[in-house]
Amino acid sequence: MRKPLVAGNWKMNLTVAESRHLVSEMIPGLQSIEGVDRVICPPFTSLLAVSALLEGTAINLGAQNLYWESAGAFTGEISPLMLSELARFVILGHSERRMYFNETDSTVNKKVQAALAHALTPIVCVGETLEEYEAGLTEEVVSRQIRLGLAGLDLRIGNNHTSPLVIAYEPVWAIGTGRAATPEDVNVIIARVIRAVLFDEFGERISQSTRVLYGGSVNSDNASKFFSEEEIDGALVGGASLKVNEFVKIVQAA
Ligand code: PEP
Repeated sequence: MRKPLVAGNWKMNLTVAESRHLVSEMIPGLQSIEGVDRVICPPFTSLLAVSALLEGTAINLGAQNLYWESAGAFTGEISPLMLSELARFVILGHSERRMYFNETDSTVNKKVQAALAHALTPIVCVGETLEEYEAGLTEEVVSRQIRLGLAGLDLRIGNNHTSPLVIAYEPVWAIGTGRAATPEDVNVIIARVIRAVLFDEFGERISQSTRVLYGGSVNSDNASKFFSEEEIDGALVGGASLKVNEFVKIVQAA
């Protein structure tokens, strides 16, 4: 059994004061739900404030990116060592980072290695663009992103029997567009591509214990349809994670 996980990606939104306000409003609703890992990923500037408010709750904190070195002359970057004091999760390889900040499978790979070395659970994002989707390249693209993004990793099952990483399948054409993929299609891609590649590269236990999320225009109306598919273990939620009632309802559905 894989425990469901729902993560909210706030992207580049909210000041520290706004973050405090939003998370304070969300805590009661999120706290009352059991059996789901809940993760909030604010921007770097809000991590400390949000972590103080989450202390003593069962809600986890995640970051949206990191740099792979622990410390040094890398102006403007944030290291896994710094994050490990605050967060348990980190989103890596999000399509917006691949698109606007030149992230490649090879930099994603370095970041995943660095996260794991500092006991952060990476949420590794993969997914095809609209052009690739229309050209029938989904399988090729997603399989390459996983093989190269996770190349050379020594993945071990933890004491809690779960894989040390999470994968988010996010078709780029579904992110922030209101045009979600169909739950049935997502289920097939996870089974035939994502778990198959994990099986090839890391064996049965990692393939079966890795949680695979869907992301792309998830909201409180469509969430339960995704979660009722066998292979979908939760969601990475962008826009709807900035709305208290929407996000709490999505976690409830999981
Ligand atoms: C995301 O940013 O990862 C995402 C899925 O965004 P949205 O839910 O807004 O489509």
